[in-house]
Amino acid sequence: MKCPFCSSSETRVVNSRPSDENSAIRRRRECDNCSRRFTTYERAQFESLLVSKRSGRREAFNPDKLYNKLSIACNKRPINEKQLRDYVYGFEDLVQTPEISSEEVGRKALEFLKSLDEVAYIRFLSVYSDFESADRFLEEINKELGTSS
Ligand SMILES: [Zn+2]
Repeated sequence: MKCPFCSSSETRVVNSRPSDENSAIRRRRECDNCSRRFTTYERAQFESLLVSKRSGRREAFNPDKLYNKLSIACNKRPINEKQLRDYVYGFEDLVQTPEISSEEVGRKALEFLKSLDEVAYIRFLSVYSDFESADRFLEEINKELGTSS
């Protein structure tokens, strides 16, 4: 944590206690460089990753929605439900930017499924990818399966 007075990154916590009925942690910090003290608050936030749609609309990333799509693709496949949950709830931490396109979400999910199960992967690819035409889709499948000539 940087010192707000001198911008030194050499600061340390001198005191830490809950505040706002435990919804936040209040910490007093002291700067080793200028010796000034300041307060930080740590609280959980619902700030979500933004997903931009092809239409230009943006919405907050919804892990439950992604989970539903993945579980449909994984229906009756030997895939552990927990693997899917770990993936969707950790998804935001895999993305380094505050915003991602819906296509990119799909692409990442595809990569994930590919490592798990080929059938689930193909199902997801067929249903959720925004390919312009069936030809394009088949081309993609052939490419992925390495069967294109
Ligand atoms: Zn300082």
